[in-house]
Amino acid sequence: MVVPSALVLVCETCGEVPHRVLSGRISGRDDVVFQGTVKCSSCGRVTSVTHRERRPLAVPIVVSERQESSRGTIEFAPEEVITVGDRLDHEGHHIEITAIEVDERRVVSAPAAEARTVWAKRIDRVVVKFSVNKGNRTAAHEFEAAPDEEFEIGDIVDLGRERAVIHKMHVGTTTMKRGRARAEDIVRMYGRLVRERTSR
Ligand SMILES: [Zn+2]
Repeated sequence: MVVPSALVLVCETCGEVPHRVLSGRISGRDDVVFQGTVKCSSCGRVTSVTHRERRPLAVPIVVSERQESSRGTIEFAPEEVITVGDRLDHEGHHIEITAIEVDERRVVSAPAAEARTVWAKRIDRVVVKFSVNKGNRTAAHEFEAAPDEEFEIGDIVDLGRERAVIHKMHVGTTTMKRGRARAEDIVRMYGRLVRERTSR
């Protein structure tokens, strides 16, 4: 197992928050043991920790997309509770849990350790946020796109009655002023209205 880049740990000051892993190693067989140095994402305190958690369970999953379905496994912490309607990332796709089987019964919610199979559907649409400069004001638009649909700086987006050209995108923690990105990776796009010439 590789050392994670972040762990949710308890900080004395901030409570249970993500901590960035500065250095460390993973060991253990039944449990996963992390030993290393972490930094609280909230107050910045650096501490050395030994963190032990149960090795994740691989639960069989059937993911459907339109008419097709595929079988695989998905990892959960043993004590984690799975609930119908949960939205997760799985193998690069957004999925939503639609059914959970426990002892030949379908249940709405169960601990991962009891789930024999879970069913899910691909969620095909993601919401793209688009702030559009309209002269002396900025309007916030949202529209849906396929997760893997690509947007490029300079693209013109149809907003119904108006059209706007993309001039900047926030992707992850970076700001892009050229290039392209997938809809699911875009935090927000920025653009300005395209002045239309009336043609008839
Ligand atoms: Zn803290």
